[in-house]
Amino acid sequence: MSFTVRAPAKINLHLGVGARREDGYHPLRTVYQAIGLYDDVTVFRSDRWRVAVEPIGDVDVSEVPLDESNIAIEAGKLLAAHHGQVLVAGIEINKGIPVAGGMAGGSADAAAALVGLDRLWDLGTSDDDMLAIAAELGSDVPFALLGGTALGTGRGELVEPVLDNGDWWWLAITSTEGLSTAAVYREYDSLGLGDVPEVPMALLSALADGDVDDLADALSNDLLAPALTLRPALAEILQAGLDAGALATLLSGSGPTCLCLCRDQGHALATKQSLLDDGFTAVLGAPGPVAGAHLVEYA
Ligand code: ATP
Repeated sequence: MSFTVRAPAKINLHLGVGARREDGYHPLRTVYQAIGLYDDVTVFRSDRWRVAVEPIGDVDVSEVPLDESNIAIEAGKLLAAHHGQVLVAGIEINKGIPVAGGMAGGSADAAAALVGLDRLWDLGTSDDDMLAIAAELGSDVPFALLGGTALGTGRGELVEPVLDNGDWWWLAITSTEGLSTAAVYREYDSLGLGDVPEVPMALLSALADGDVDDLADALSNDLLAPALTLRPALAEILQAGLDAGALATLLSGSGPTCLCLCRDQGHALATKQSLLDDGFTAVLGAPGPVAGAHLVEYA
């Protein structure tokens, strides 16, 4: 018996970050969007925890742990403990989300593992409990369950859907070398910060109206400055996206993936071709918004 769950990458259309809290986390006000890059996570019965990782396309999976520090196994252990049980399973991750790319691939795997193992073990966990377990695993994990477009508050773990009437066409320019989220936040702290900024009404209106020009004007990411300090070459990639014709460019989360917002599918394909002509090799087309972690296959 096996279950395969598909979970999406996330981007942040707005990422407002406040000063570090006493518990070490940063308060966030963010607007998440799930986009069409996926990890497929298959869970099956096993006599012990085991995890295997296979790349989809050119994704470099060498930094993904194959022991019990893999967040998919952590998710399984927490789910079993929630039900007062000690259970084990085998997990295979087919990874299409760049690792350490600022797209929350690990969080996607955790969310997918929760959904798959809940079926494999026939636990019937409530949605509220799934969200609570997800929040314990990581700030981005509840959103990976929810998908779509959502407001994230707290440290990002409190999620509520926002009205989004758009069909958005993103390109993701991935980097061969990841960027540590923790290092970007450390750099952010050194800048000296105030309160966490509000999500601009202009962004929420652009989403509700499905207006791509307004969305292009409303994108923002507080982690851009510290990411640029750590990786100055990102400025050239963001500029190259604009030169290739993107309406706007945006750093994905803590980076280093850079996003291009395009008007429609034809514009996205033309922009991608222009980037390829410029010598970029890793440019992935991804529509948004897409669904959160969901079952796609069983056997
Ligand atoms: P975030 O922005 O959520 O911190 P990210 O997208 O920048 O994440 P991830 O791909 O989620 O980065 O991975 C960050 C690190 O987490 C990896 O370098 C890896 O060591 C560790 N990790 C643990 N489990 C996984 C997993 N299942 N997939 C990917 N990375 C994992």
